[in-house]
Amino acid sequence: MSWVHLVLFTGLLSLVIASSSSPVSRSILRDISGGGNADQEDKAVELNSTNFDSVLHNTPAKYAVVEFFAHWCPACRNYKPQYEKVARLFNGPDAIHPGLVLMTRVDCAMKTNTKLCDKFDITHYPMLFWGPPSKFVEPKKNKSDILVIDDGRTAERLLNWINKQIGSAYGLDDKNFENEHVVSNMTDYEQISQAVYDIEEATAEAFDIILTQKAIKSSETSASFVRFIQLLAAHHLSRRCRKGAAEILVNYDDLCPSGKCSYEVSGGKDSLGNFPICGKDVPRGYYMFCRGSKNDTRGFSCGLWVLFHSLSVRIEDGESQFAFTAICDFVNNFFMCDECRLHFNDMCLSVKTPFKKARDFVLWLWSTHNKVNERLMKDEASLSTGDPKFPKIIWPPKDLCTSCYLSSDQKSIEWDHDQVYKFLKNYYGPKLVSLYKEKSVIGSKEETNISATEDLTVATNALVVPIGAALAIAVASCAFGALACYWRTQQKNRKPRRSWN
Ligand code: FAD
Repeated sequence: MSWVHLVLFTGLLSLVIASSSSPVSRSILRDISGGGNADQEDKAVELNSTNFDSVLHNTPAKYAVVEFFAHWCPACRNYKPQYEKVARLFNGPDAIHPGLVLMTRVDCAMKTNTKLCDKFDITHYPMLFWGPPSKFVEPKKNKSDILVIDDGRTAERLLNWINKQIGSAYGLDDKNFENEHVVSNMTDYEQISQAVYDIEEATAEAFDIILTQKAIKSSETSASFVRFIQLLAAHHLSRRCRKGAAEILVNYDDLCPSGKCSYEVSGGKDSLGNFPICGKDVPRGYYMFCRGSKNDTRGFSCGLWVLFHSLSVRIEDGESQFAFTAICDFVNNFFMCDECRLHFNDMCLSVKTPFKKARDFVLWLWSTHNKVNERLMKDEASLSTGDPKFPKIIWPPKDLCTSCYLSSDQKSIEWDHDQVYKFLKNYYGPKLVSLYKEKSVIGSKEETNISATEDLTVATNALVVPIGAALAIAVASCAFGALACYWRTQQKNRKPRRSWN
């Protein structure tokens, strides 16, 4: 090495050391990294060439904003707090308006993202785009769906731009839960696609309640828990919940020897608390389809109903009595709302003949839910305890299923049960799943011939599964699939029986 190189090298080294310890460079680092302060945590989701497609494909959000920036660009650094102000409204578990818009960013100065950024013909930094999330995966093909946000210089202007797109009136200072976008912009048919997330949320919340209440207290509650988990392992519409349920089943003897469970989350591998039923990302802490316009309405109990209906339409004839028993016992033992539990148990006990047909069980659950609706219609009217934006109704209303009605007047409805069954099978079955998959409403309201998409996998925003892990999951999925098949065969061969009699 010549002396010129040596001098240059030493000079460079001292510059690096000096700059790395200077307050200026530290503050730039802090700006970019978010400073490490939990309160100031970045809400926009960092995307890169590895996770871009999967995050945008799997997000439940209806719209996405993607900011392309470069970490060396001073204007981008200055813009970041503005962007974050909007992102905190929409992203993360504390979001004020969760689930509708996903706010993301891509650092185009990272070599690994060059190809990704090239796909979007970036002309300046920061450059913002708007569109349905899945359309970003092939931007050239979906040019007309992806818009450049041309007026997002400040947080206020960006939010105004978004408000204009979706007809909302969000403000940067919004604090309360509001539900206006769900009510005004979506039909019930569009909303049900979001119920996939609520079904996972309610499953995980129910499981968390069982853990916190240490609710498996006797051989009866233990048996009831196992029955319900068996039902979930075979028929939950989310693959990760089926997988989680199957893992609990396989390990149950170690987790709850003689019905005595260990619940601690850090209680070692033999603790129920270490088996999150739908994976560690759920519960997320909010509901979408079941989101009330007030903080204390809807949510969990709505999610439970949707879970039960979605299970009921997936079972076969030979499993109908088992599913009925599993759900009745589950509510009786683990649903902490006393009034709900008692009323529901009465309705379970009033069934005198074991179910032989899945159709009968689907219709029983539907009419039982309607009996609850009918009772609550009166209670909520007199006590004003209901959700003003989601009044109880006898369901489905005519505009959701005209053919379900043979006739109706003020006092009574005559249902066409064949049509109701067809409607429920479709609404809580393929419709729910296919709507989730396509993120759009397809076909007419009463379309019934949509191919079943049995193997739904619901992923979270920032989940990236390495190939090794994906293989492991695939292998595990096969194992629990076989287990579920075995269990289903067993169920079909079993004689129906009521456990609580
Ligand atoms: P929910 O009644 O929760 O319904 C959720 C969604 O299911 C609706 O938005 C609609 O899309 C769909 N739906 C509505 N009716 C039907 C139907 N008949 N068939 C299929 N789908 C339908 N609360 C009480 O105050 N007292 C009780 O005794 C009581 N018992 C309950 C028993 C159970 C098993 C459960 C799960 C809940 C119970 N609740 C009770 C809570 C109550 O039923 C509602 O869940 C809660 O008031 C929230 O109502 P919601 O407007 O979100 O609609």
